[in-house]
Amino acid sequence: MKILVLNCGSSSLKYQLFDMDGESVLAKGLVERIGIAGSRVKHNKGNADAVVRETDIADHTAAIKIVLDLLLDGSTGVLKSLDELSAVGHRVVHGGEKNDRSVLVSDKVIRDIEECIYLAPLHNPANLMGIRAMQTALPNVPNVAVFDTAFHQTMPPKAYLYGIPYKYYEEDKVRRYSFHGTSHAFVSARAADILGRPIESLRLITCHLGNGSSLAAIQGGRSIDSSLGMGTTPGVLMGTRCGDVDISVVLYLMDKVGNVGKVSDILHKESGLLGISGVSSDLRDVEEAAAKGNVRAELAADILCTSVKKYIASYAAVMGGVDAIVFTAGIGENSDVTRREVTKGLEYMGVKLDAAKNTGLHGKEAIISADDSPVKILVVPTNEELMIARDTERLTK
Ligand code: AMP
Repeated sequence: MKILVLNCGSSSLKYQLFDMDGESVLAKGLVERIGIAGSRVKHNKGNADAVVRETDIADHTAAIKIVLDLLLDGSTGVLKSLDELSAVGHRVVHGGEKNDRSVLVSDKVIRDIEECIYLAPLHNPANLMGIRAMQTALPNVPNVAVFDTAFHQTMPPKAYLYGIPYKYYEEDKVRRYSFHGTSHAFVSARAADILGRPIESLRLITCHLGNGSSLAAIQGGRSIDSSLGMGTTPGVLMGTRCGDVDISVVLYLMDKVGNVGKVSDILHKESGLLGISGVSSDLRDVEEAAAKGNVRAELAADILCTSVKKYIASYAAVMGGVDAIVFTAGIGENSDVTRREVTKGLEYMGVKLDAAKNTGLHGKEAIISADDSPVKILVVPTNEELMIARDTERLTK
């Protein structure tokens, strides 16, 4: 069964074509600057070098046509006919409260995604463009929507409600949703496999640390708390997003800057590692500057690690303990320094890192806790695309 996975942004489209027999990636690529001058597509067939084509791409429908042509082309392609394509899985950022799992796209599902646009104004419209473009290009191929929010819909009200008048929840569904659900679901299931224990018996804390970051408390395979919120700024320090800040800071900035859009830009695009360090939003640059003695870069990395540590301890408290801590995404998978600093000082709760196993480990699955550590520490590379492909296969087989 061949499944195409699409992740559409407002001016971009990432894709991967899976052969589900063996779960291999046949081709993948990225279309950039859709609707903007300088559009281009970068396509990889298997492990071959990328092919880059620069051509005008007016909209997502045009982008999808180019992708399908590349998949069929004699030199870049991996399909003889589009009939080989069994289904398309779409990453959809917000499913609201109605969607607690992946679904086969129908008119009603499209209306539900539209209804959530006010909760994800940048992402849901782009995700819908991808779905509609695919429906136009291949009307007989089923589409599946896989929501970033769905996995966290198991959070209880005590975790998802904010301490504001209840009517805002009732009338406007103002609440914590959190995101990266597909990643948290993937790495928690994989961690249980690696540990050889049923996920139902485990208390896990998954740390998805990348440009955007979130932690989740996962008890018995269900997300019971997660650090992003109604939006994508709360929780731990991120590349350019602020993490938890006191509302007074927001009100102060509103007063000082006097413009909602500008304050939103400050908190989403100018804060985090970039805002503190003044160097970069990329942790590699920040770590490099810190190593050369840049005090603000050192501080930014320190704030990131401390914020992650605080969430780990609070989620352990909520679950009455923790069996394993799982690191994933760009930082979690690659930064041994971050993993070391985050776990340092948590020995009191049974977290003992094995320095030798941790040091130099990049992007590979491993248990990095000491053999006698009561709490296991794991690195599990995330694979949201594969998770989307699996859900798509399950719902369309
Ligand atoms: P993601 O959003 O998951 O792609 O993660 C991006 C983040 O991972 C950026 O902050 C990168 O600096 C960070 N990252 C990737 N590789 C490394 C590395 N080898 N060491 C430290 N950070 C890394």
